[in-house]
Amino acid sequence: MGHYVDRFLTSLAGFARHVAREFTQPVWGNYVYAMLVVSALVFALELTFPWRKDQPRIRRDFWLDAFYLVFNFLLFPLLGFQALAVVVDLVASDVRQWMGLDERGILSVVRWPAWAQILALFVARDFVHYWIHRLLHRVPTLWRFHQLHHSVEQMGFAAHFRFHFVESVLYRTLEYLPLGLLGFSVQNFFVMHLVAITIGHLNHANLRIPLGPLRFLFNSAEMHIWHHAKELPAEPSSTRHGANFGLSLSCWDWIFGTVHWPQTEALGTASGRDAQLGFPGDETFPRSSSLGKSVWQQWWAPFR
Ligand SMILES: [Zn+2]
Ligand SMILES: [Zn+2]
Repeated sequence: MGHYVDRFLTSLAGFARHVAREFTQPVWGNYVYAMLVVSALVFALELTFPWRKDQPRIRRDFWLDAFYLVFNFLLFPLLGFQALAVVVDLVASDVRQWMGLDERGILSVVRWPAWAQILALFVARDFVHYWIHRLLHRVPTLWRFHQLHHSVEQMGFAAHFRFHFVESVLYRTLEYLPLGLLGFSVQNFFVMHLVAITIGHLNHANLRIPLGPLRFLFNSAEMHIWHHAKELPAEPSSTRHGANFGLSLSCWDWIFGTVHWPQTEALGTASGRDAQLGFPGDETFPRSSSLGKSVWQQWWAPFR
C-alpha cells in the first residue's frame, strides 16, 4: 500500500512540474500546445464550412464547454487525477507480476516496432472504450454521470470534453488493467493521444466530412450526431440503450450491430444534421445562466 501512496505523491509533484514546463517550452510532444492547436484548427474549420449553417458561431453553452475542456484536459489531471492514473498503472503491473508475467505482459508489446505499438494500442484502447461507453449507457448509475455529455443541445468541437470528471476515473481504471496486462503502457504515446483528440473534436464539430467507405472504419460528426439524438428512430440495428457508441473508430458499431446509419433510396443517406439533441427527461437537467452554478449543479446532479 505504501508504494502506491509514494507513487501518488511523486507523480503529483512530477506532473505539476511537467505542465509548468509545457507552458514555458512549446516543443513537439507538448500536450498543452497540441490541444490548443487542434482546438483552434477544428474551430476554424467548423466556422468556415459549417454543416448547420443557421447555428450561431458562438453556439449555446460554448463557454460552458470551453470550461469543461480546460478542466477535464488540464485541471482535473493537475488536481491529482494524473497521479491516480499512474497508481492504477502500478496496480496493473503488480497484477501482472502476481500472474507470473514479466513487464512485457502477455503480448510482449515492447519488442514491437514503435509504429506497431502505437497502432495496436490505438485500436485496443478504442475497443475497450467502446465497451466502457456502452456500459455508461447500460448501467443506470453510470448513465446518470454520462447524462452530462448528452445534455449538449447545439453541437460543436468543444462538446467533446463536456463530461463528468467521474467518467475520467472510470475510463482510466477500466482501460489500464486489461491494456496493462497485455503489456501496453497507456502513458507515453503522444501521437496516439493527439490522433484520438483530433478525431474526437471532429466527431463533435459542426462540420461534415464525407468519409465514403471509410465510414466503416472511422467515426464522424455525421455518425456521432445520432449518438446524441434525443430520440433514435426505431430500427433493428439500434439497441434500446442507444447506437453509435464508437469513439475514434466506428467499426465496433458495425461489427457488434449497434450502428445507426439510416438509408433512403432516393436521398442516399438521411442526414442527422438537424436531429434534436439531448436525452429523454433532459428538461430537468440542471442549467443555469451562471456558468459556475451550472457546472456545480451538473457535477452534483448524479449524486442526488
Ligand atoms: Zn454516450
Ligand atoms: Zn459525444
